Amino acid sequence: MIKDDFPILSQQINNKPLIYLDNASTTQKPSSVIEKIANYYKNTNSNIHRGVHYLSQKSTEEYENSRIKVHNFIGSKSSKEIVFVKGTTEAINLVANSYVKPLLSKGDNVIISQMEHHANIVPWQMITKEKQSEIRIIPMDKNGELILDRLDELIDKNTKFISVNHVSNTLGTINPIEKLIAKAHEHNIRIMIDGAQAVQHMRVNVREMNADFYCFSGHKMYGPTGIGILYGKQEILENMQPYQGGGDMIKSVTFEKTIYNDIPNRFEAGTPNIVGAIGLGEAIDFIESITIEKIEQLEMELLHYATKRINSIEDVTIIGNSNKKASVISFVIDNIHPHDIGTIMDKLGIAIRAGHHCTQPIMDFYEIPATARASFAIYNTKEDIDKLVEAIEKTKEVFS
Ligand code: PMP
Repeated sequence: MIKDDFPILSQQINNKPLIYLDNASTTQKPSSVIEKIANYYKNTNSNIHRGVHYLSQKSTEEYENSRIKVHNFIGSKSSKEIVFVKGTTEAINLVANSYVKPLLSKGDNVIISQMEHHANIVPWQMITKEKQSEIRIIPMDKNGELILDRLDELIDKNTKFISVNHVSNTLGTINPIEKLIAKAHEHNIRIMIDGAQAVQHMRVNVREMNADFYCFSGHKMYGPTGIGILYGKQEILENMQPYQGGGDMIKSVTFEKTIYNDIPNRFEAGTPNIVGAIGLGEAIDFIESITIEKIEQLEMELLHYATKRINSIEDVTIIGNSNKKASVISFVIDNIHPHDIGTIMDKLGIAIRAGHHCTQPIMDFYEIPATARASFAIYNTKEDIDKLVEAIEKTKEVFS
């Protein structure tokens, strides 16, 4: 069983076997990733790019090898297009500050959507405020699907950038990003796709989709925390200013003048999360050992099974009914606060998330304070979903 590869899942929580359904927040790590990290610290630990000694060279090789794994995983043209960052949040802040901010003047606009994570809202607010420009919002409908027809009205000659998520972390909606990308390019506008909830569920090929930027976090795809990826087209990255200054991002420094390094190092100032990058490479190996296609197929079975079962429970409503969804189910129960649902589930050993999921505008849209969210990963089973359904029934009993 795949579950056996994940040591954390064999424990009991509140004297009940743990059922972990909070995967959209972060996934658990397989033994191969945990061992890779431990072995790196036991045998290889050293700083990269700077030493002529054996360990430094070995560290550099493993770090750069991970970059190549990421490049192959998302189908970029070159591994130079892969920048290691802390996570999706840092990737979006980097693009906002280094690429978009210099493009903005008073009266310009940046377009995002109504279903963005705060990480894809706040950085745009920060730079548009500073530049006296504005954010425009692609609206969505009650099913949780973007109303793409509205994009034509939003785009004008002052639109300087578009940034939209591939998959909503709250609704599970898989957005038609190919259409969005094509539309942006029709108007000569560059576009960034937040793939934090996509790469772990489906095959992503940045070249085929023709995204200008694409980003994601290692910890949501069976890798460590504190590491993520910014993909950017080579010709764009090469013309972009650095995000942070420091060691490793330079070719030469005098007090008068600094010459920046080539990409991608130009965007990786300071000692990076070396072990994180190496752990992420191992997580990609783990995913590809199963294959992302198989993961997608198994998760879709779980999603359909769970949707059917949860929909059949009285007083329970699923929030987010897009035609195309990843394995994320937000739900509410009449007259029970999602935090109470989460607390009761925890007592039963079931880890779900309750809250606004860093998407307060979605809560406002549905006029609810929060949802309970169950999100599935490769190690979940139909039995886990049966337990979830039992727990929902139990929660209703407690509050009846
Ligand atoms: N975007 C989306 C769609 C997300 O789900 C998340 C994480 N919940 C983020 C951005 C931010 O990712 P991180 O916290 O790893 O930077």
